[in-house]
Amino acid sequence: MASVVGGGAPGGPSTVTSEVVLRNALEAKGQRYTEQRAAVYRYLLGTVRHPTADEVFTAVRSEIPDISLATVYKSLEALVGCELATKLTYGDAAARYDARTDPHPHARCTVCGAVLDVPGRIDARLLESLGAVRGFTVEGYRLELVGRCGGCRGK
Ligand code: ZN
Ligand code: MN
Repeated sequence: MASVVGGGAPGGPSTVTSEVVLRNALEAKGQRYTEQRAAVYRYLLGTVRHPTADEVFTAVRSEIPDISLATVYKSLEALVGCELATKLTYGDAAARYDARTDPHPHARCTVCGAVLDVPGRIDARLLESLGAVRGFTVEGYRLELVGRCGGCRGK
């Protein structure tokens, strides 16, 4: 049983559960469970902002002052590697990380860069019809709506 750490962390009562999930997922991939990785995962679970590695670093440093950006980056990649997080990439812009791993659409603001979850799912029949190309088998999707968020609409 994992010990409870980081009182007041996002996730509240589910903190212990998320640590067990993390420990099992890491160990299944031959990776070590560390408090740094746990703090990164807790932060990611508690935010809907799809943060960059820099943003995670800034947030987690208040809890673990001596954590490095490299450790945060490696922790995020470890989470992606054991399928507890998704990495969203944007060409030249910094990648963002999402603790939601089920397929879901995003909306990205081209002014401030905000990435928001879009409620709802893509209809399975639509996906199949879009994938009806030379025997292609659809296993998932990445859909991004592009525009301006509420705060940037008038800019
Ligand atoms: Zn915006
Ligand atoms: Mn998302």
